[in-house]
Amino acid sequence: MTEVFSGNFTQQEPIPDEGIKAALEVMQSGRLHRYNLQQDEVGETGLLEQEFAAYVGAKYALAVASGGYALATALRAVGVKPGDKVLTNAFTLAPVPGSIASIGAVPVFVGVTEDLTIDLDDLAARAGQSKVLMLSHMRGHLADMDRLMEIADEAGLIVIEDCAHTMGAAWNGRASGRDGLIGCYSTQTYKHMNSGEGGFFVTDDDEVMARAIILSGSYMLYGRNGTVPPPEVFERVKYETPNVSGRMDHLRAAILRPQLRKLDSQCAAWNARYEVVEDGLRGTPGLTAINRPEAETYVGSSIQFLLLDWSNEAIDEVLQRCKSRGVELKWFGGAEPSGFTSRYDSWRYAPSERMPKSDRILKGIIDMRLPLTFSLDDCALIARIIRAEVGAVFQAT
Ligand SMILES: *Cc1c(COP(=O)(O)O)cnc(C)c1O
Repeated sequence: MTEVFSGNFTQQEPIPDEGIKAALEVMQSGRLHRYNLQQDEVGETGLLEQEFAAYVGAKYALAVASGGYALATALRAVGVKPGDKVLTNAFTLAPVPGSIASIGAVPVFVGVTEDLTIDLDDLAARAGQSKVLMLSHMRGHLADMDRLMEIADEAGLIVIEDCAHTMGAAWNGRASGRDGLIGCYSTQTYKHMNSGEGGFFVTDDDEVMARAIILSGSYMLYGRNGTVPPPEVFERVKYETPNVSGRMDHLRAAILRPQLRKLDSQCAAWNARYEVVEDGLRGTPGLTAINRPEAETYVGSSIQFLLLDWSNEAIDEVLQRCKSRGVELKWFGGAEPSGFTSRYDSWRYAPSERMPKSDRILKGIIDMRLPLTFSLDDCALIARIIRAEVGAVFQAT
């Protein structure tokens, strides 16, 4: 009998009851806007900021409308101007180069390694081209952050971290998003907490945070945020910082606060699923597993493997065969962007040269989501299906 998987790769868990209850209370109050507060009330959004800052160990956190908004705000807050070059990963998702383009700046792509992290040698070689690195921890893979920060410090690069896939992760015990000057996170439905849309911006820097708060649309109500730099810092920046509204409202914050309390146990549940799939795939002929370094604490909300140096036809056949058995794999090497996947040469608004070493890797990257609605048995079944189909196509070629 041929086993078929019948689960849904885009089905997330429901919002916790506590979050639903808190959201109802916000709606009953009619006070949804973050600054629509009673005297001395902090409100759901401010409380969430305090709690998220404490969770990652940052001085300041700002809750915003999306992860992409947090990234663009970070670029504005460090003074990136139209025409400036910003280093970023060749392997990432479209909102990352998009945030750079959104302020008229120009992405400069840095290559990817077989560990699916930014190529640090390539970074060192290109570091002189820019003052800012927007580092994407794409699919939750952390580069050697100790070496990366050495390269950045030596070259005088400001590091902004895109932690859309690393909320809850760490390098050598340091929370992801805390090595760079700014960490940005997303709470969009497919990430590690779910408010439909949403995001965070964290930093320890007084002035960067003051600019970010004003940018986010605080008007002169910035003193009512959850984590606030001293008033004199705002005096320095308030006349020069534009309002680019992208606030988070109380409703989303109410949904997120109970999820933050559960985040660590959710991460453990993802990793249990990841390990089952990883174990099931290990040793499959023709398949290259992704190395996870000792220093990395990851969150296995998705899993990747490489079909290195396979022909497009053979990869396509694996995808088709798995799909016919209910297993949805995404391929970063496809000629055309599709679904959520695209690659540096699909972003034609940004100039790029061919990157042969990265192209070889990108061409082989297969990606799969692991929603928490899958059981461990589901994960074992998925791994058996992939193993069988990769093996069958590999043998035939
Ligand atoms: C989702 C995502 C973002 C942006 O998050 P949004 O909240 O959707 O704007 C940024 N980077 C990566 C790698 C992402 O996957």
